[in-house]
Amino acid sequence: MCCIPGCLRLARNPHRDSCEGPGRLPARFSDSLQTDVCNGKITSTYVSLKINKYKELLMERTLSIIKPDGVQRNLIGEVVKRFEKAGIRIAAMKMLRLTKQQAMGFYKVHQERPFFESLTDFMSSGPVVVMVLEGGDVIQKNRDLMGATNYKEAAEGTIRHDFATDIEKNVVHGSDSPATAATEIAYFFSELEICR
Ligand code: UDP
Ligand code: MG
Repeated sequence: MCCIPGCLRLARNPHRDSCEGPGRLPARFSDSLQTDVCNGKITSTYVSLKINKYKELLMERTLSIIKPDGVQRNLIGEVVKRFEKAGIRIAAMKMLRLTKQQAMGFYKVHQERPFFESLTDFMSSGPVVVMVLEGGDVIQKNRDLMGATNYKEAAEGTIRHDFATDIEKNVVHGSDSPATAATEIAYFFSELEICR
């Protein structure tokens, strides 16, 4: 195996004494995209593998839900438009109606809270739209677009400020951390349903 981290060559270049580290690659970047990284030059395959790796590192996913009040008030298009305008990619989307049990499962972190009963009644009271949003820093970006939980405290121009009518009926849900996002996405979508 080549000694350069990330290099996919199976063997060292026999024509050189040593391999050259990635630190020296940029100066040679424009020389040629034809030959191998072990000659101190890089192939286009190598470049695109590296670019894809960095994209993967920067890319995040989050779960968004348009809650029953948002769907009932014909706000699906408005919410989706705000995501798309912000450069967020919608990687999966479906409409469904949660049962009370499913709503309780989804919000189980709040099961001890006084609003749990009412919240899960509300979340199972009509159809919702669930989406996987994808993009750089998308968890925080989505939370910024949503605004504070209490619409009275939400900043102007946020979804909740503009459309929520109640602390409970606040139009949208968004995951609040990478760990929550992973669990919440898996609650609704299989990997096969998420489009690349
Ligand atoms: N909620 C409520 N009363 C409260 C706090 C929250 O009815 O005092 C509801 C509201 O719909 C909120 C959801 O419970 O969106 C989940 O609460 P959380 O604190 O996780 O807020 P979010 O992450 O949605 O901003
Ligand atoms: Mg929350």
